[in-house]
Amino acid sequence: GLDQDGVRVLVVGLGVTGLSVIRFLQQNHIEVAVVDSRETPPGLDVVEESFRDIAVFTGGFDHDFFEAATHIIVSPGVTLEEQEIQAASERGVPVFGDIDLFAVCVDAPVVGITGSNGKSTVTTLLGQMAEKAQWDVRVGGNLGTPALDLLTEKTADLYVLELSSFQLERTSQLKADVAALLNISDDHMDRYRSVVAYCDAKQRIFFGEGVAVFNRQDEMVNALALPSERQGVSFGLDQPNGDHYGLLSVDGGEWLSKGSEPILQVAELKIKGTHNIQNALAAMAMADALKIPVAAQQIALREFSGLSHRTQWVTELKGVTWINDSKATNPGACLAALNGLPAPIILIAGGDGKGADFSLLKQSIQSNVSLVILLGRDAKRFQQEAVGSIPCELVANIEKAVQLAAEHAVSGDTVLLSPACASLDQFASYQQRGEHFMTAVEALER
Ligand code: ADP
Repeated sequence: GLDQDGVRVLVVGLGVTGLSVIRFLQQNHIEVAVVDSRETPPGLDVVEESFRDIAVFTGGFDHDFFEAATHIIVSPGVTLEEQEIQAASERGVPVFGDIDLFAVCVDAPVVGITGSNGKSTVTTLLGQMAEKAQWDVRVGGNLGTPALDLLTEKTADLYVLELSSFQLERTSQLKADVAALLNISDDHMDRYRSVVAYCDAKQRIFFGEGVAVFNRQDEMVNALALPSERQGVSFGLDQPNGDHYGLLSVDGGEWLSKGSEPILQVAELKIKGTHNIQNALAAMAMADALKIPVAAQQIALREFSGLSHRTQWVTELKGVTWINDSKATNPGACLAALNGLPAPIILIAGGDGKGADFSLLKQSIQSNVSLVILLGRDAKRFQQEAVGSIPCELVANIEKAVQLAAEHAVSGDTVLLSPACASLDQFASYQQRGEHFMTAVEALER
């Protein structure tokens, strides 16, 4: 429940999350104002149309708005280092995120899923397992519907939240019944001072009691100490002990397994690549912790064909397979694609590297890639850090990259768009980047 007397909440940062907070607070009759540093932030039109009586300031962070606030809710896109936020915090004004508001208002089991890569895939897959079991499950958070918009009058059986490090770093109230940390690799180093600070944020997923699902083969994840209130359940691609999850070899086939019990043959999965085997195991571990029947899990695992822009099969042309992995916005995701797809690969990469170190990719490029085609802001740095002696071309845009790849590709090759970078230097979103890529590939067919 919320106490509304004398409360005046300032929402910092509009967009879909900010809007969900405004909507939720208004429904609960709590006074709310909003600031955004952008002149015309996304969602401004909605506020002007549907929430006419709330105070809005755009194009900067107006000091008076911060002075007047009793609570400050900061959207994930805004850093907590902002001077006005810091100053308010020092004055004793509580500063938090939308997930805390969700956490204090929800009254059904909650799953939290985080990691550098695979969050959306695992979140969606777990949601489908619950649906196959006929549960009323609501899926959202960092993916799709903002968390607060999932809270409707009718309480669900289960809430499954994908959570980013930015959401977690401003959360102290979330006590997920089942929490998963999938992996940690370099990402968002433009917003974190160190990998340690990034790990600290991710680790907050394990606040409270319940089951902690974690990747035992990820060096950084495995090095974290689990809180004693959490029962650890691990997954990995090796043979599992006890009640943990992994792979067993049965009659020459590989099986997703719990301990010594084979559950589903890997060949039955539609999603490909070793990273997706990890994702499937993580979802199974969580589903068992939630008591979703195994039969429902198996159906979902067999049916799930993956999300768009994540190692998505586009077409096969003259024996060449084209793959759209535009969602690979950090080196860890690109590495998973390079190691999981058939070589030889022609790699199209580059964009806004967000300060990440590309040298992680060097060895895999050396072994699996025949040509690297680079575009975007950090193309040169990518070349210096990761390409080594492999042939490499710099191009101006994605259409040129596709043409060049088509000229060089021979039957048996995989052409992979897996940028290892954010798209925002050249595109509105990773979706738009992926769509431009697929449109250019389709044009080759004509
Ligand atoms: P997130 O929501 O964490 O960004 P997605 O499921 O959307 O994760 O996938 C993002 C990118 O990471 C895609 O390029 C995908 O192929 C890759 N990926 C998915 N799962 C994993 C994993 N377990 N390890 C490494 N990369 C992964």
